[in-house]
Amino acid sequence: MQQAIAVVTGASRGIGKAIAQSLVDADYFVVASATSESGVSAIKEYLGEKGDAFVLNLADKESCEQFTKNVADLGSVSVLVNNAGITKDTLMLRMKDDDWDSVIETNLSGAFRITKGFLKGMMKQRHGRIINISSVVGAMGNPGQANYCASKAGIEGFTRSLAYEIGSRGITVNAVAPGFIATDMTDELTDEQKQAMMANIPLGRYGEPDEIAKVVSFLASDGAAYITGQVLNVNGGLNMG
Ligand code: NAP
Repeated sequence: MQQAIAVVTGASRGIGKAIAQSLVDADYFVVASATSESGVSAIKEYLGEKGDAFVLNLADKESCEQFTKNVADLGSVSVLVNNAGITKDTLMLRMKDDDWDSVIETNLSGAFRITKGFLKGMMKQRHGRIINISSVVGAMGNPGQANYCASKAGIEGFTRSLAYEIGSRGITVNAVAPGFIATDMTDELTDEQKQAMMANIPLGRYGEPDEIAKVVSFLASDGAAYITGQVLNVNGGLNMG
């Protein structure tokens, strides 16, 4: 039997890399993406023969189409993790159209396009797991992140709607909403912002990429067969709602 394929977008670093590695441990053949050839090489290096990687720019329709074609050539997809995402933080009054558009295009429209690319195959198999990476701020909001929070609130609505549509085909659709995880993305925050965030985390520390990856692997596993349409908070207690 062919090894099941799991796709992870944005796996050159951070949370996506940890997810890809965790899915390899769960015995998937992992197909991952980066925005550049050097990122693709870095992924191929750590995956070795346990996976493959291609360039993907989620903000570009043609790139999304090419990526789904490249993956389809390898076989049908069992697990899709829409992980890649960007921030372009600034207060609303200073936010340019491009700051808004690029974040929505990458984080929300890109996930829509990639999901659509694999949906028919999953429906045919009558099995699939779609896991979208949201953020704690999708529910809480955050000053300076109107674009990012809108994209993440959008992905949560997308998750629930799609879960309704394809549950009868044996496909689950869930989101994981990380809190503050130590990656390049959070490195960009000022010390002041980091300290303010820390003061509100009951567990008193930032999360590690692997602590998100383990939850994603659980959602991909047989043990999560009856979970769909959910947003799982993994945030050290930052938001308990
Ligand atoms: P990261 O370290 O900045 O990595 C981002 C990944 O996305 C990279 O692999 C990057 O590829 C890829 N990417 C960037 N722009 C892209 C585009 N236009 N098309 C396709 N891929 C693109 O981010 P992270 O912290 O691991 O975050 C991963 C996910 O978790 C994101 O959805 C983020 O919103 C979410 N999240 C993170 C945190 C946190 O605290 N870190 C908290 C909540 C939610 P390149 O390397 O080629 O640029």
